Amino acid sequence: MMNEFDLIRDYFTWSIEDSNVVLGVGDDAAIFNLEQGYQVVTTTDSLNEGVHFSNSTPAKDIAHKSLAVNLSDIAAMGAKAKYFTLAISLPKIDQPWLKEFSDSLRQLSMHYKLSLIGGDTTRGPLNINITMIGIVESSKMLKRSGARPDDGIYVSGTIGDAGFCFWKLSNGLIPSDRELKRLNCPTPRVELGLELKNLASACIDISDGLEQDLSHILKASSVGAVIEVEKIPVSDLLQAHIKNTNDWSIPLCGGDDYELCFTIPEGNEEDLIKISKSCNVDITKIGVVSESSGLQIDGFDGPRKSYQHF
Ligand code: ADP
Ligand code: MG
Repeated sequence: MMNEFDLIRDYFTWSIEDSNVVLGVGDDAAIFNLEQGYQVVTTTDSLNEGVHFSNSTPAKDIAHKSLAVNLSDIAAMGAKAKYFTLAISLPKIDQPWLKEFSDSLRQLSMHYKLSLIGGDTTRGPLNINITMIGIVESSKMLKRSGARPDDGIYVSGTIGDAGFCFWKLSNGLIPSDRELKRLNCPTPRVELGLELKNLASACIDISDGLEQDLSHILKASSVGAVIEVEKIPVSDLLQAHIKNTNDWSIPLCGGDDYELCFTIPEGNEEDLIKISKSCNVDITKIGVVSESSGLQIDGFDGPRKSYQHF
């Protein structure tokens, strides 16, 4: 029979070359050295069965998403992710499930050269909590509060794909594999966040819906904005759905996209084109920051509600 410590050893102990990690998994706490001239950036995200994934979501997708959502937060700060801890609560020891989860987590973490430096393993309803630690050159972080009137408002990728997939599942429709991937296996915009650090005035990752997340930037920056729904980049299938229904609520309010929404002072369009190419991600201007407060959405005034847990 496998016990808690065998489980940690077999599934959650691996290392990458990082001379700054003094102590990883195995002691009472982890220790790493701080690099001169950098600040530490840290974030935590929990995934709960029934809220963030369903009981049919594969273990590999749960692992991917747990790490990706944290990588997305670190990217939105313009920081570089370095270390993470994993607190996991499991209803039972299911070795095939654990292997699939662990392989996927290790694969994605190795891709971004992240060290798993510790965690906690308990019995209970399935819950995954990852704390991620990153670094950024002192005072170079990208906050929500730097947007200024006349800055352009941009988003990466396409918006609403995860929400559209969720809408299909909720309405008994069968999404394609590509659509499921957008919901279950989001791509965090890691490279883009690092590039934007030198250009953007404010940034946020879209986890709860474009309207709500952009509003966080506006509030933190004490500004307003005007955006046009027709400019929001949406995938072909979602475009067709919007045409049929005249309803923009999915791209405006659907969560879980993990694209970046950011503001850029005027005159930086050429740099943005370069960044879009080097990061291999589309960047689209959807509006402009204004002096008056509030978010004006041109082209759609139907009912909508972004995600909130309570
Ligand atoms: P303690 O009882 O001192 O809190 P634990 O027995 O919980 O220590 O954990 C032993 C070691 O294993 C610690 O270094 C802890 O960080 C690590 N650990 C526990 N669970 C995990 C996990 N799921 N992933 C990575 N490391 C873990
Ligand atoms: Mg413990």
